[in-house]
Amino acid sequence: MNLITHVLIGIIIQILCFIFLAFPFNFLLTIIIAFLSHFIVDAFSKITYHTPEPHWDDKFWISWNISVRVIGYIAIILFYPYYLGIIFVNLPDIWDWAIVRRIQKRRNKNRKIDYHHNNFFHRIVDKIRKKTLFWLPNWIYEKKAVISEILIDIALIIGIYFLMI
Ligand SMILES: [Zn+2]
Repeated sequence: MNLITHVLIGIIIQILCFIFLAFPFNFLLTIIIAFLSHFIVDAFSKITYHTPEPHWDDKFWISWNISVRVIGYIAIILFYPYYLGIIFVNLPDIWDWAIVRRIQKRRNKNRKIDYHHNNFFHRIVDKIRKKTLFWLPNWIYEKKAVISEILIDIALIIGIYFLMI
């Protein structure tokens, strides 16, 4: 899923942990649940528009990816006090895309990236998806599938609103 969806889920996890748990369990559980949630949420990305490779020639792809990223950054700034959930919910993406992919690009002379390399956290996502969510439709190339992610995000924003009032 995209940055904004993970951020919203990280915020909800931190709010819930801090409502129901005492120190230090609120911190500990926020870290663990936020981190693990990334894999489950990404496994569902099959039902959203999420092409594995970039499509710089497609204006729709560019617009969608810029939008979800910008809205994600705005949410991070607005909900800055929930930084713990936000950081750990995004850790698998930070590790895979910002660190491992960069190292692989530098190492491999042909600039090809082996996404099945053991160092990628997202290999776990593929396993979860194949073993449990194989029955879901595969819409990763369907542009209309942005609607599924938008609906999920709206539901999460409503959830955050009710948790905060
Ligand atoms: Zn991810």
